[in-house]
Amino acid sequence: MTQFNSFVKNNTNKTLAELSDKEIYVQLLNFVKEIAANKAKNNGKRKVYYISAEFLIGKLLSNNLINLGLYEEIKNELAEAGKSLSHIEDIEPEPSLGNGGLGRLASCFIDSMSTLGLNAEGVGLNYHCGLFKQVFKRNEQHTEANFWIEQDAWLIPTEISYEVPFKNFTLKSKLDRIDILGYQKDTKNYLNLFDIKGLNYNLIKEGIEFDETKIEENLTLFLYPDDSTKNGELLRIYQQYFMVSNAAQLLIDEAIERGSNLHDLADYAYVQINDTHPSMVIPELIRLLTEKHGIKFEEAVDIVRNMVGYTNHTILAEALEKWPLAYLDEVVPHLVVVIKQLDQLVRAKYSNPAVQIIDEQDRVHMAHMDIHFSNAVNGVAALHTEILKNSELKAFYEIYPEKFNNKTNGITFRRWLEFANQPLAAYIKELIGNGYLQDATQLEKLLAFKDDKKVHQKLAEIKSQNKLALKTYLKENKGIELDENSIIDTQIKRFHEYKRQQMNALYVIHKYLEIKAGKLPKRKITVIFGGKAAPAYIIAQDIIHLILCLSELINNDPEVNQYLNVHLVENYNVSVAEKLIPATDISEQISLASKEASGTGNMKFMLNGALTLGTMDGANVEIAELAGAENIYTFGKDADHIIKLYETAGYVSKDYYTNDNNIKRAVDFILDPALVKLGNQTRLERLYNELLNKDWFMTLIDFNDYVETKEQILADYEDQDSWNQKVICNIAKAGFFSSDRTIAQYNADIWHCEG
Ligand SMILES: *Cc1c(COP(=O)(O)O)cnc(C)c1O
Repeated sequence: MTQFNSFVKNNTNKTLAELSDKEIYVQLLNFVKEIAANKAKNNGKRKVYYISAEFLIGKLLSNNLINLGLYEEIKNELAEAGKSLSHIEDIEPEPSLGNGGLGRLASCFIDSMSTLGLNAEGVGLNYHCGLFKQVFKRNEQHTEANFWIEQDAWLIPTEISYEVPFKNFTLKSKLDRIDILGYQKDTKNYLNLFDIKGLNYNLIKEGIEFDETKIEENLTLFLYPDDSTKNGELLRIYQQYFMVSNAAQLLIDEAIERGSNLHDLADYAYVQINDTHPSMVIPELIRLLTEKHGIKFEEAVDIVRNMVGYTNHTILAEALEKWPLAYLDEVVPHLVVVIKQLDQLVRAKYSNPAVQIIDEQDRVHMAHMDIHFSNAVNGVAALHTEILKNSELKAFYEIYPEKFNNKTNGITFRRWLEFANQPLAAYIKELIGNGYLQDATQLEKLLAFKDDKKVHQKLAEIKSQNKLALKTYLKENKGIELDENSIIDTQIKRFHEYKRQQMNALYVIHKYLEIKAGKLPKRKITVIFGGKAAPAYIIAQDIIHLILCLSELINNDPEVNQYLNVHLVENYNVSVAEKLIPATDISEQISLASKEASGTGNMKFMLNGALTLGTMDGANVEIAELAGAENIYTFGKDADHIIKLYETAGYVSKDYYTNDNNIKRAVDFILDPALVKLGNQTRLERLYNELLNKDWFMTLIDFNDYVETKEQILADYEDQDSWNQKVICNIAKAGFFSSDRTIAQYNADIWHCEG
């Protein structure tokens, strides 16, 4: 009897065949948890604490089985008992601890930290309802609370608890952990998720509305509660301080336990600040070292500066947090004292207002504090880091050139190839063996098959097979009828104007009107969207509304629906991504140049044999360099051009609208009676006016170039040999985007911990 069979027999006195899928899921969960419990923790003198407000971990069962090398065995064992592992996978709820790329990146990173055997752990919060669940009603996004924590879950409670002081009360924390297993590793790390003890679900009213003032009972209810109100902003400050105070106390305790006298704390710990949300860890560490452990202020500042790195994820001004000093005073006055001291240190040395921590309006610039009081500042793709150095953070780069460095993002191939695309992974192993699992650059061996027609044929078959699997998934779970014989063109990511889903929607309108006018495409195209819009982000929701209306109009029009379909998949998350990406032909990465720091979706598609249609933005630039310009479809104005336009306020959307009939026709259609009939006139009018009169992210500037390039990629699809040559070049060069490479670089350049 195999391991799992006997585990089940011992625990239930039944055979697999006698258990329901749900019961088998619980057995598998406990089986894996037991194996994980027996693994030793990674060790090494210096330990990395990767603090992040988000960890978009996705389901863990299959990933853990893969990392344990048990996936195939369990799958076969279940099949013998008449059970399907993929049905059992469906039962696992997806944890809701993140909202997009930033949280997914943190999750790929902790997977790689364990795989590389580093003593490096994630620290965050355990949001019980996480980000909202998205539902569509009347072609609009609605939000529901997403309770994802069940009785049988991956979370392992601990006895660890700290007191976190706020102005008017002290909150006691509790720590739950999730074991993070590396790929074929005997050791493990933890994802540390702090929580409060008195959480009260009864505070939730309609949807995701809740009483924002009862901090002692609501702190870990939701991720990123609405920050368009003062109470929402205060709650975020409460959450952030709670997260970092716990992290700082844990880190100090663990260092002392391992022999630190705290003067040498930097030898025992390194803190990576993932975006500005954990920035308060800097003053909190200084406060704890001085107030609790008797270290002098100057020394504490030096210690902390040597053990903190800051990762910048965006140049969007609204995303760089600036908290009003008065708000911080309301929540954590004891931290304001330290922040003011740090501000004084900066003022004493630098007079440039652009580098101050506290500005003239008494707002605290979290990123500025991070840069002054860390020893490493990194961007997340080559272009992004250059933009930080040369424009966005130029004043800082001039002071601290040695701190700035680039760490191009990556993804874990265990989840995004081995698990998500099993037919492709199996075929790659057939062609080049499985060395690429430990060393992703070995994928380059695939280049030897670039001109092999049999390989082209087989890749096309795998794509078809994945489209069929997607068809079944969408039908069973999302009420969508997918045409598996069409070209699949996918844009999945958070809804944001800079990502320009609205430009893709205008393309859909353009295509629809062309088909109506008798210009029929050679082959049917299915345009798939997926993504959530922040509840306070009205225009993003208007864009969702437009797409849903277009979907209803087009999919029901018999003149058009044999040539064009449009779908917006409800409640986009990691599980949905795992289904969509392997089935996709065209990867839409069309952000306004300079605005997408890196993107990681682009990497997942490349690895899965989709060709990129994109702007020269974020990591697209590196994709183009690696795969070769002839193997990716780029268009649009470049970052330099766009940055200059912002500087000179030189973009006027109305000019593009009035001077170009194609653009005018597509934009005007937003208010066409046929469309308005299906939707909400207020929303469509607002979006129309936005595009015409503001269009801050310059949709119209690249529209014609986009349409032309999209027609080219669609035409090129018809030559399947040439297409699959490109596909091979993309997969072969995707190795660079393994998060194992990214983490190895963080460790070599910033963390310096033993592996
Ligand atoms: C990869 C991923 C993202 C990030 O996608 P981008 O295209 O890089 O914005 C967001 N959400 C989920 C669920 C993902 O898997």
